[in-house]
Amino acid sequence: MSDCIFCKIVNGELPSAKVFENDDVLAFLDLSQITKGHTLVIPKIHNENIYDMAPEIAGKLFEAVPKISRAIKAEFNPQGLNLLNNNGSFAGQEVFHFHLHLIPRYNENDGFG
Ligand code: 5GP
Ligand code: ZN
Repeated sequence: MSDCIFCKIVNGELPSAKVFENDDVLAFLDLSQITKGHTLVIPKIHNENIYDMAPEIAGKLFEAVPKISRAIKAEFNPQGLNLLNNNGSFAGQEVFHFHLHLIPRYNENDGFG
């Protein structure tokens, strides 16, 4: 998708702070950093959201999530980690390329929830 910012990040047309990458999946720091280490995990292939995601793409994405979560835990030492995914604008989706938010949690005043 030529006008998709996350496809541009995958292609290297836009910069990102990469956390993890393999052939199918890319994880990078969210610009907004709800909390320190807030990371987005995306399939490299353009899927708008959960509704158009093939099971094998979902499998490859979620296969990488424990490893990425451990890397975040090792780097930022949070007390917890929320996984969040918004589908559709009514649910808060702003970028229409599937992404899973990994949001490290530090304390009750850490800015999320
Ligand atoms: P959504 O609301 O769609 O679930 O989340 C979109 C997320 O993408 C937001 O948290 C926003 O900060 C992040 N985002 C938007 N544009 C960029 C960008 O160009 N680079 C990065 N790293 N994150 C972005
Ligand atoms: Zn895309």
